[in-house]
Amino acid sequence: MVSKRVVLKFPQKLVDQPIVYKLVKEFNLVFNILRARVTPNEEGELVIELQGKKQNYADGIKYLQNLGVSTQPLSQDITRDEKRCSHCGVCVTMCPTEALYLDQNTQKVIFDPEKCIACELCVRACPPRAMKIKIL
Ligand code: SF4
Ligand code: SF4
Repeated sequence: MVSKRVVLKFPQKLVDQPIVYKLVKEFNLVFNILRARVTPNEEGELVIELQGKKQNYADGIKYLQNLGVSTQPLSQDITRDEKRCSHCGVCVTMCPTEALYLDQNTQKVIFDPEKCIACELCVRACPPRAMKIKIL
């Protein structure tokens, strides 16, 4: 069994298609939607957690890609520019999943991409713009 969080970007022509339903029905995957939105140019973006057998997961991702859906592991969606981060701590107070937290020993702010759900709150709040969204 695998459990992975991925960012899916749908071209406009696929936004109203029952794609997630097919992931469940045809690939036996369980899903949990973490974030969904339609971008200004009317593409769809879904941050989703998928669980299932390893082969089913791989086949499901292949199915998405063949349809024209861009896929990317969530851990690569939000990144931090370490050179820019001043460890001010602003992001720590707003991160809903504690993906950004203060190391009490070093007094440095740590970023754990595995806990990140890509809500983007830190991206907007970070004074030196150290938190970044990777564009697919
Ligand atoms: S808000 Fe930005 S600069 Fe401040 S600790 Fe967070 S990532 Fe670093
Ligand atoms: S994008 Fe959201 S969940 Fe991820 S580190 Fe920033 S505030 Fe936390």
